Parts: sequence; C-alpha cells; structure tokens
Amino acid sequence: MRLRILGTAAGGGVPQWNCACPGCSGARTNPAWRRTHASLAVGNHIVNATPDIAEHVETLRPADAPPERTRVMRVVLTDAELDHTLGLFRLREADELEIVATPTVRQALTRGLRLHEVLSPYADVRWRDLMTDGEVALTAGVEVRAVPVSGKRPRYASDEASAPDWVVALRFTDRASGATCLYAPAFGVWSPALGDAMAEAGCVIVDGTFWDDEEPRRTGISSRTATEMGHLPVEATAERLSRLPGRCLYTHLNNTNPLVDPDAPQHRRLAELGVEVAADGMVIEL
Ligand SMILES: [Zn+2]
Repeated sequence: MRLRILGTAAGGGVPQWNCACPGCSGARTNPAWRRTHASLAVGNHIVNATPDIAEHVETLRPADAPPERTRVMRVVLTDAELDHTLGLFRLREADELEIVATPTVRQALTRGLRLHEVLSPYADVRWRDLMTDGEVALTAGVEVRAVPVSGKRPRYASDEASAPDWVVALRFTDRASGATCLYAPAFGVWSPALGDAMAEAGCVIVDGTFWDDEEPRRTGISSRTATEMGHLPVEATAERLSRLPGRCLYTHLNNTNPLVDPDAPQHRRLAELGVEVAADGMVIEL
C-alpha cells in the first residue's frame, strides 16, 4: 500500500491568510515552514477534500506520464468540517464524483451545505456509506473501515442530532499484503476503540494540531483548550504513540503549533521518542 501525504496543516493552513502569529509570519518569509491543509492519497482516493485539493491532485500527476483527463474523483471523509469538505465544491469539473462518508456526515453536507443539490447540475455525485462495522472496498485493492472518534458537530450543523460517527478515524487495509494504516487527524479522547486500532496498525498518522493543551487560549485563537476543541495535544499523546508497534507520524498541525518551525526544540523531543512529524509530499510504502 502506497500513501502520499498531500498536506499536513490544520484549518487555515500555514500561513493562514488572516493570521500574523509567529508560525504564519515565519512561513511568509521561509518556504520550509509552509504547510497545506492535511490530506492523504491512498490508491485513487483522496482523504478529505480541503481547500487545497486541486493543487494536491496536481502533485499526484506523474511528470513523465502522458496527458490524461481525470474523469472520476474519489474522496473519503473523516468528518463534515469545512476544512475537510470545502474542496468538494472545487471538484465540480469532475465527470463523476464519488464521496465515501458516514451517513451522518452525508446528511450534514446535504442539508447544511446543500452539497448534493449544488454540485449535481455539474457532476454525477455518487455517495457510498462509510461504516464502523464493516469494510468498504476502495480501488487498488484497498479497503477502509471507520473507527468512531466523537460526536463533535461542525458549527454549521449544530442543530443536527448527535451521533457517534460525526468524526471518525480511517483504517486502511491492503487486502493482498495485509498492511494497515490508521489515519486520525482529529481526536480529543484516546478511546479504547481508537487505541486498539492504533495498536493494530503498521502506520498511524494522527492529530498533531496543538503542542499543548493551553496553546489555543495562550495564543488567543480560542477560549477553549485543545482537548475541548476536539484535539488531544501532542504533549498528551507522544509517549503513548512511542509505545505503539507501528510507525507514528503527526499531521494536521495548527499554525500556532511550535512544530511548524523546523528548528524548534520540540522536534528533538519527538525524535527521542521515535515519533515523526509528517511533511507535505511525503510518501509511505507499507
Ligand atoms: Zn497563524
């Protein structure tokens, strides 16, 4: 199974257009600090449709391949948050758009964003249910199963009913080799189900939004802690990750996270634990 990490930033990216924090300012003067929205390519599927999706798809086109039109776009969603779904509207030029999402997420996008109604006159939009109790076959011999993470709803869907599959992690399995990868870009609780899925995976790519719990309040971006925002901070997960048998990488870094500075001492702390920080464009073979 071949994974390509397309982007590694939390909502807004690094730099974020309206922000002047040290991370965003650093990224404006030093390209090495820049990160696009967190996304992943697994086979022919893109995980989460971020505002950067069109640029991400361009990076998947081999330079030496003959020109070929992309007729079908396939997307798997972890949740209905705007940073993970706005890119669906950028895919209106697709002939066919396949969206794999939990029924809860599909309903939020259909009712809250009117996604199906808006996109259907442009593209053939097809939905497939992402399930927590069974595998969904993707292309290239890969299957995916959802691991429930939380009932945290996007603000635009605050009136919708609560459900356990508003936010899920994705477990990808290569049917031929048995290789597995768990992608969990947002979780505020290390639940037994999530812990089991992490322990079984050959590679885990997880929530590195914030370094410490007070970071969102200290930097003034929120009145809530990282955990209250649905993101366990790196400080709370790094040692636990270091004890997992598989390769572990952080993604979904917020621009306030000191890790956006490649020279920050926090990188040495993670290196000592054997935990990696994912980079845009990184390829992982499992
Ligand atoms: Zn910033």
